[in-house]
Amino acid sequence: MEDIISLCKRRGFIYQGSDVYGGLSGTWDYGPLGVALKRNIMNLWWQHFVDSRDDMYGVDAAILMNQKVWQASGHVDTFVDPLCEDTVNKRRYRTDHILKDNGVDPDGMTMQQMDEAIAEHGIKSPDGNPLSKSRTFNMMFKTHIGATESEDSVSYLRPETAQGIFTNFKNVVDSFYPDLPFGIAQQGKAFRNEIAPRDFVFRSREFEQMEIEYFVNPDKWQEAFDELLKSTHEFLGKLGLSQEHIHELDVPAEDRAHYSKKTIDIEYDYPIGKEELMGIAYRTDFDLGNIQRASGKSMEYTVKGTNTKFVPHVIEPSFGVERALMAVLSEAYTEDEVDGQKRVYLRLPEHLAPVKFAVSPLLKNKPELVEKAREIYRSLKQKHGRVMWDDNGNIGKRYRRQDEIGTPHCVVIDFQTLEDGTVTVRERDTTEQRRVEVEEL
Ligand code: ATP
Repeated sequence: MEDIISLCKRRGFIYQGSDVYGGLSGTWDYGPLGVALKRNIMNLWWQHFVDSRDDMYGVDAAILMNQKVWQASGHVDTFVDPLCEDTVNKRRYRTDHILKDNGVDPDGMTMQQMDEAIAEHGIKSPDGNPLSKSRTFNMMFKTHIGATESEDSVSYLRPETAQGIFTNFKNVVDSFYPDLPFGIAQQGKAFRNEIAPRDFVFRSREFEQMEIEYFVNPDKWQEAFDELLKSTHEFLGKLGLSQEHIHELDVPAEDRAHYSKKTIDIEYDYPIGKEELMGIAYRTDFDLGNIQRASGKSMEYTVKGTNTKFVPHVIEPSFGVERALMAVLSEAYTEDEVDGQKRVYLRLPEHLAPVKFAVSPLLKNKPELVEKAREIYRSLKQKHGRVMWDDNGNIGKRYRRQDEIGTPHCVVIDFQTLEDGTVTVRERDTTEQRRVEVEEL
């Protein structure tokens, strides 16, 4: 993990947020290559789950929402983590994390049971001090809308994108009247005041989600669930993740949200261990039912040409972009040996790599080579977009640098190019070089 973090910083993928002022815990800034990789992942998701299907509708809802959204959804009352305190230095910790770090599985435990487990195992804080009893801590960032700060002006930075979908369910039905089943998809920022942000971007306070609410006839939830699970595995394949690193966890009833009839978490073997990458949950009519009660507006769907009406049930595949990106980086990070020297490279799938071609003149002080290389660079860039000009240092150094950022092909223009119109293409994974006609690129 340390190697990946340092590569990300060194090569311009991900920096600590507010780094110049000493950082802001749980926030991360994407550099030029990081933003390219992140966009490629998000675009691939959109292409896979929205554009290539005819049963999906995209939305982009506001991050700030009426506080009633979060009251009705249960987030104001129940979006909480158990928190305990070091009784000496007052540092705060998530009780479930403290238990996990001490080899006790907290899954399915109530807060009281967690406190009992801490007492029973004599668990102390990481500084060796006694821990307080736990209390709940709401993870939503609270803010105020407008010039006056009162209870009425309270709003929250959304802790999930899902509610922006549910609140637009009726709008999309009224505009498009899709047949059931259909889904509404959204990508965007989410914010959680995590007590202990950690493990690089894995647990951040500001992150990005890609979520679908897939509306179904309650009798047909199982087949929709199975289809979305299958499609999720296909998408993980497109991310280049190998099957042996992906695990399905059928979440037992006592660990599921009370309204969920089935949840499967997809876990990935990160360098930090096996952890949740995404989840698919059957959420029944919990969310639309809540909105109907709280808003007084009907969320019923009328089956076309009939009088049959019901509140649709929902399957929710929910991805975290950072966790997908961290899995992609973990899978791609490779060390090997070339010419007796250690080499580090990112074996990214070509369609995700921030740079697809790096173009160099063999020597940068030969104008005729530079001119030809510029011409090839411009034409490749027009065709492929993701093309980088790289004439820094000697050719060996350029290859190493491009290997580290996962560029699959380096194109080198030399004197032979001027004679016969061929270039050297050097491949990242094999380090093999071959001569290729410029048109063939
Ligand atoms: P965890 O148990 O790890 O806190 P969660 O079960 O609370 O996650 P969900 O509420 O189901 O997560 O959120 C859906 C997805 O959003 C997760 O599968 C994950 O990919 C992502 N996610 C959630 N919290 C964070 C976070 N703090 N940082 C980055 N991604 C997150």
